[in-house]
Amino acid sequence: MIPVSQAISIILDLVKPIQDTETVTLDNSLGRILAQTITSELDFPYWDNSAMDGYAVKFEDVINSNSENPVTLEIIEEIPAGIAPQKSLQSGQASRIFTGAMLPQGADTIIMQENTQKHDNHVVILLSPKSPQNFVRKKGQFYQAGSPLFSSGIAINAPEISVLATAQCPEITVYSRPRVAIISTGNELVTPAEKLHPGQIVDSNQYALAAFVSSLGAIPLKLGIVPDNRNVLLDKMKQAINSADFVLSTGGVSVGDYDYVEQLLSELGGEISIRSVAVKPGKPLTVANFDNGCVYFGLPGNPVSALVSCWRFVKPAIHKLSGLSGNWLPKFIKAKCCQDLQAGGQRETYFWGQLQLVDGEYQFELAQGSHNSGNLINLAGTNALAMLPIGTTMIQQGEKVLVMFQ
Ligand code: AMP
Ligand code: MG
Repeated sequence: MIPVSQAISIILDLVKPIQDTETVTLDNSLGRILAQTITSELDFPYWDNSAMDGYAVKFEDVINSNSENPVTLEIIEEIPAGIAPQKSLQSGQASRIFTGAMLPQGADTIIMQENTQKHDNHVVILLSPKSPQNFVRKKGQFYQAGSPLFSSGIAINAPEISVLATAQCPEITVYSRPRVAIISTGNELVTPAEKLHPGQIVDSNQYALAAFVSSLGAIPLKLGIVPDNRNVLLDKMKQAINSADFVLSTGGVSVGDYDYVEQLLSELGGEISIRSVAVKPGKPLTVANFDNGCVYFGLPGNPVSALVSCWRFVKPAIHKLSGLSGNWLPKFIKAKCCQDLQAGGQRETYFWGQLQLVDGEYQFELAQGSHNSGNLINLAGTNALAMLPIGTTMIQQGEKVLVMFQ
């Protein structure tokens, strides 16, 4: 058994980020990982524009204006958003302007309409602005053309899409989605549509793992159920290794008579670097890599163990594989324990539950019901895993515990 931290660093060392790229439209870019540097030829704002509905003026004309001694200016034109000004402002003049509209030549300041009174083609300025460029968004204030906007390796979400649209990048180059094959091993497994016979169970892992893979932006290749039969399993594993960047199989990695995965990985030429990890749930974790770059994760069959192993070990690996830059490791936060947590102390132990913010303090509420790696029922509705490190056998209610959150 190796510690979790060592297992993670072995796994991350095995993973080579995807190099293949593709071009996608902005509409199809959500969740993708950028594979190019983005530089815009446009400043942002594109030009000086007004942050308010009001009047564009010369600061020097209104510097001493107030409600007792208001300055009156001639209105020379109206500039709605989207229309370029036609006239240049001279001293004593103002242009009616609306939010987002371009500043006319000669103007350097905006007076809010609330601080004015309009009389026909004249406007009375009742308040002097604090500074020139009051309510002016200057050209290039937020971004100057030619400087790097985004680097390769960032995830594209709503704010990034907004910036890319603004920079007039309707298409971007992203890394291709990783392909992750999923195999469920076990003679006892049937699909959710099949009638259950005594002794059988439904293969929930296939669905759970496919959902997990999709949620990280990778493509799940559902290869279905494989019985505990050496030859059938060998063929399926070979197919998976040759068609995917990662393979996730569940079951068959313990020490039972029907647990063939490790043996077959060696037969297929895989280099096994992890056999078991000092973690609970999820001790029987087999990791192997192949010459074609494929990394194989033999996960435990128990549904909770399988998902916890995915969150703890496979998620950072998929992040790295997908081309994401930065820190791939899970996030931990300190939270107050709402119940006593007890562990054996020999393995890093995870408890599932709800992390919530109560009166400004993070709290961890243990899921109700049995904390058994076969009990997938109470894993539903949870959003976090509390962790007791090796050597810790108890964290009492009210004490702080480290919590890994999604
Ligand atoms: P194994 O790791 O093959 O010894 O399986 C451990 C436990 O997990 C057994 O109780 C299996 O029936 C159960 N199990 C294995 N594979 C799956 C699966 N795909 N879906 C749901 N439960 C499973
Ligand atoms: Mg099995």
